[in-house]
Amino acid sequence: MIKVKNLHKSFGKLDVLKDISTDIKKGDVVAIIGPSGSGKSTFLRCLNLLETPSSGQVWINDQEITNPRINIMKVRQKIGMVFQHFHLFPHMTTLGNITYAPMKVKGLKEEEAKAKALDLLRKVGLEEKANEYPVRLSGGQKQRVAIARALAMEPEIMLFDEPTSALDPEMVKEVLEVMKSLVKSGMTMAIVTHEMGFAREVADRIFFLEEGRLLEDTPPAEFFATPKTDRAKAFLDKVL
Ligand code: ADP
Ligand code: MG
Repeated sequence: MIKVKNLHKSFGKLDVLKDISTDIKKGDVVAIIGPSGSGKSTFLRCLNLLETPSSGQVWINDQEITNPRINIMKVRQKIGMVFQHFHLFPHMTTLGNITYAPMKVKGLKEEEAKAKALDLLRKVGLEEKANEYPVRLSGGQKQRVAIARALAMEPEIMLFDEPTSALDPEMVKEVLEVMKSLVKSGMTMAIVTHEMGFAREVADRIFFLEEGRLLEDTPPAEFFATPKTDRAKAFLDKVL
């Protein structure tokens, strides 16, 4: 579903991603971990061209999205993204946030978009917050709305960039639960996270990044017990 070949990204003289090649299959759940500044966010953002790779290629469903002739807006519709800081539209209610893109981009009628949004809100446990503005929601609730908003576009792939890092500890679980239900539904997911327990539980593969290199692509049981690289070992010693 996602194929990455010889991906490089630099910002000026700073080489942030170095020769990354990998495949992510349909239904795969990949947890991306590594030290701060190792390129995790940049890697994720290259998958939907929020960042333009300096060289290398990315395919989504056999379509090369690094080809400059591609219609990137169309590609992005297939890829949902959830950020650390939610990025909800502050001047719209929960319902407004969720119905906006389906109406604007997909041309759904308001009734249809609303019905779908309410269904998604039920799934993330926030039906009663449909008419609330983001400012009146807790962090965990905001993030669940952000997930519902991404799902409203019926993406084939979901990208998460530290979805629980900005949350108070007691709200982490409710967001992870929603993500777990997505995993169960078979969604293809790439998740940058510092939640090692969650990564171990739900991921099919752990990507370990350091200094822009994909040092490990390892099943979780093996990664957490016997990481292949000393770098990963040192990292795990610090965080576990
Ligand atoms: P991580 O998510 O693993 O913490 P990032 O992908 O955010 O790492 O960043 C990797 C490196 O790239 C860091 O050194 C960061 O400062 C740098 N970087 C990220 N985005 C930009 C940008 N837009 N311009 C310049 N440097 C950037
Ligand atoms: Mg980051």
